[in-house]
Amino acid sequence: MEPAQKQKVAIVKYDGTFDSFAKALELCDGLDGLRTGDKVLLKPNILWGGTRGVPPFGRVTTSKIVEYVLKVLRDRGCAGVAIGEGTIPNEELGSTTLRGFDWSGIGRVAKRHGARLVDFNSEPYEEVQLENVRAKVSRWAMESDFLIDLPVLKTHLQTKISLGMKNLKGCLSLSSKKAFHRRELNRLIALLNMKVQPSLTIVDGIYGLERGPEFLGTPHRMDLFIAGKDVFSCDIVGATAMGIKPDEVEYLKEFASLTGRAVSLDGIEVRGEPIDRVARKFEWRLSAEDILNQAGIEGLTVQDVGLSCCSGCAAILSVLTAVLTKDCPGVAMDGVEICMGAEVRAKRESRKVFLLGDCAVSANSDLKDAVSIKGCPPPVLDTVMAVALKCLPRQKAAWMLMKRTVKNIAKKLGVYDETFPAFGVCKPPTFDRKHF
Ligand code: SF4
Repeated sequence: MEPAQKQKVAIVKYDGTFDSFAKALELCDGLDGLRTGDKVLLKPNILWGGTRGVPPFGRVTTSKIVEYVLKVLRDRGCAGVAIGEGTIPNEELGSTTLRGFDWSGIGRVAKRHGARLVDFNSEPYEEVQLENVRAKVSRWAMESDFLIDLPVLKTHLQTKISLGMKNLKGCLSLSSKKAFHRRELNRLIALLNMKVQPSLTIVDGIYGLERGPEFLGTPHRMDLFIAGKDVFSCDIVGATAMGIKPDEVEYLKEFASLTGRAVSLDGIEVRGEPIDRVARKFEWRLSAEDILNQAGIEGLTVQDVGLSCCSGCAAILSVLTAVLTKDCPGVAMDGVEICMGAEVRAKRESRKVFLLGDCAVSANSDLKDAVSIKGCPPPVLDTVMAVALKCLPRQKAAWMLMKRTVKNIAKKLGVYDETFPAFGVCKPPTFDRKHF
C-alpha cells in the first residue's frame, strides 16, 4: 500500500554556493520536526581512514556538505550535534575512523563548528533482533532524535547502489557488518532500516562513484544534492540518477516487501530538477581483472565475489591491485586465480590459486595446493608478498618488495604519501580538494 501522500524528494544542482544546498532542504521540507534541544547525529559515509594519496572524490562524503549541514543546524539553534562513523579499521594500513574524519576534512569542519566526533567502533552498541540475526547497532544512532543520513552518490559492486539505506550499515559493530555479509545482506539492510530511520537524507552528489564503492571505482563530478525525509524515496531517486533501475536493487525490493510499498517513482514527488536532466549512466559492476588488464597484466583471474565478501577483504584486493598495476605493469602471469568470500570456488582450470581471507580458505578447504593467506581480513603485506614471490620472476619480485619496504617505512614516518594510478587521476578544477 502506498502512503497517502507522495514523498517529496528534492534534486538541486550544486552551483558552488550554500544557497543551492539550502534550496534542496527547503524543497523537501527537510527540517520539519527538528527541535532546538534535539540530539542530532550526522552519519556521513567514510569507508576508510585513508591518506591524501587516495583521492576521496566520490568515495567519502565531502566536508563541504557536512559544513553546510552544521551551519543550518547552528542557525536553528541546535547545540547537541554529533558526527558518527565506524570506518573499516586496519592497523597495518593505519585506517581508523579518526583518520577517516581527517582524510575527508570532516574532522576539521567539526572542530570549527563545535560538533562532536564519534567513532562508532569504540562506543557502546545496542542489540537489535533482525529476524534470526542479532545485530549490534551504535547506541548513538538508536538514541538520536534527529538522524541526518549523508551518503555519497555511489554504486556498489554487490548491492548495485550504496545510498542512504546502505549507509546506515556503517552504524553496526564490525562483527555485525561481517555477519550481514555472511547472511542475507539485502534483507538485513532492509530490516536495519526498519529499526534505524533517518529524519533526513541528503545524498552528496557533488561527486558520484561508478564501479564503487571502494578505491578502484571511477569518480565523476555530478554537482547534485538529492534530499528528502524518506530514505527509501531518496534511494529510488538516487538509483535513477545513476541510470540504475530501482526495481532491480534487491535491498529496495526487500524493504518494499516489508513495508508494502512499491519500488517506483510513482509514490514520489520530485521537486527541483527533473531526474532525466541530471541522470548519468553509471556501471555498478567492478572487475579487478579489467583494471589489471588495462595495466597490461595478463593471466590473473578474480571471480565475482558474491554477497558474502565484506569490505575487509575487498579493501585488501584493492590495495593488491593498485600495487601490481603500479609496480609491475605489463607482467604476464600464468593461470593465477584469487578467490575471496565464502561463495567463490576456484576454477578447475586455474594453475595457481590464492585464497584471500579465512572465508575463502574455508570455502576451498579441499584445495590442497592452493596458497592460503589467512586472516579476517588477511594482512596486506602477506598478500602482496605471496603473490609477488609466487607469480613474478624472482628478480622482479625481490626488487618490488625492497621498494615496497622502503616506501612503507617512509609512509610510517609521515614523509611519503603514495598515489596509485588504479585509484584514478583526479585533476583540478573538476576534482577540487577544497570540497574535503
Ligand atoms: S575473511 Fe574477509 S570476507 Fe570473510 S569476514 Fe573476514 S574480512 Fe570479511
